[in-house]
Amino acid sequence: MKKGEKLYEGKAKIIYATDDPNLVIQYFKDEATAFDGKKKGIIENKGVVNNRISEALFNMLTENGVHTHMVERLNDREMLVKKLNIIMVEMIGRNIAAGSLAKRIGLEEGTVLPRPIVETYYKSDALGDPMLCDEHIFMMELATPAQLETMRETTRKVNRLLTDFFAARKLRLVDFKVEYGVHNGEVLLGDEICPDTCRLWDMDTDEKMDKDRFRRDLGKIEETYAEVARRVCGEI
Ligand code: ADP
Ligand code: UDP
Repeated sequence: MKKGEKLYEGKAKIIYATDDPNLVIQYFKDEATAFDGKKKGIIENKGVVNNRISEALFNMLTENGVHTHMVERLNDREMLVKKLNIIMVEMIGRNIAAGSLAKRIGLEEGTVLPRPIVETYYKSDALGDPMLCDEHIFMMELATPAQLETMRETTRKVNRLLTDFFAARKLRLVDFKVEYGVHNGEVLLGDEICPDTCRLWDMDTDEKMDKDRFRRDLGKIEETYAEVARRVCGEI
């Protein structure tokens, strides 16, 4: 597999072309951002850790029938994936109130939701990722009704699978963001799943084990990412 030109550089990853037009390489960076890019920093080794954690989670989801873009992890910081036409709707699954949900509707952070929910947001840095309802999604032709249904149902399934997987590792899955894209007409789970994109709380201590340590200046950031990797992947 030959690495080609840089196609896109985002806040946390770089996408490179390959000699196969169906495949691209995701390169995981150490850069971290929060609050729509207003807060910037480096989390040492984050790229390596997030690549490993994403690989383990995509493997687990694949074993359970979820169709993902992952082909294989190539090395410490690179993952070979099927090239997607990204659907510009971020799907957020939630089990416990935190972050923007707690703020928007005045729920105390930590309130267990009566049942898991899935929300939809416009993937637009310029607009600050506003929340969308189905009518907005169809009006803007971001996804078809069938695609949205697939994304919603898959996100519910991913939530069930991740919740159990993390619980077996003493981590409570509070909420998470996933992205999807279209490859040869099929909707696949894309991007990454890692402590940047999930809220994870230690089951014994309620300690935050995710990017909130960076967002909220809680310290022990690198150590926490390494600990999540240890619980998810074993020693790396
Ligand atoms: P952002 O664009 O939000 O700054 P990243 O730094 O993570 O995010 O950049 C990775 C980009 O690659 C994202 O925009 C994501 O939607 C996109 N992406 C994820 N998986 C694929 C894929 N398989 N094919 C093409 N693009 C992808
Ligand atoms: N999230 C993400 N990328 C985004 C927005 C949210 O990965 O652009 C994740 C975030 O890490 C959390 C979940 O989605 O696990 C819910 O985020 P929320 O809406 O509460 O926003 P926040 O307050 O974290 O900005």
